[in-house]
Amino acid sequence: MTYTTKQYIDFDDLAGIVVTCGKCQTTLSLRLDIDQSQLPISCPSCMEAWYTMQPGSIGSDLTLFRSGLKQLKDKLGVKVNGLKFTMQIELKSAFPDVVASSRNHA
Ligand SMILES: [Zn+2]
Repeated sequence: MTYTTKQYIDFDDLAGIVVTCGKCQTTLSLRLDIDQSQLPISCPSCMEAWYTMQPGSIGSDLTLFRSGLKQLKDKLGVKVNGLKFTMQIELKSAFPDVVASSRNHA
């Protein structure tokens, strides 16, 4: 028998996406509670270019991902009434599966 530990996050618990500069390690939080139509494309500290906003690029995907998360958070948060379901994000387990074995003793 295998026991698996599942971990979930409520949409209300999502605060934002953190970007860390690979050159100077500055971190930037792309918060979901702030309307940011234009995401930064370079490090605000060392000005290293991070990505472009070309269609299909990471910058474009990040913009869509952040926007989608924000919309889902607004629609699925615990403060939203009238939903007939709940939804959470499942995390990869931090704990390995536990396999229990049973032995027959004679
Ligand atoms: Zn930097």
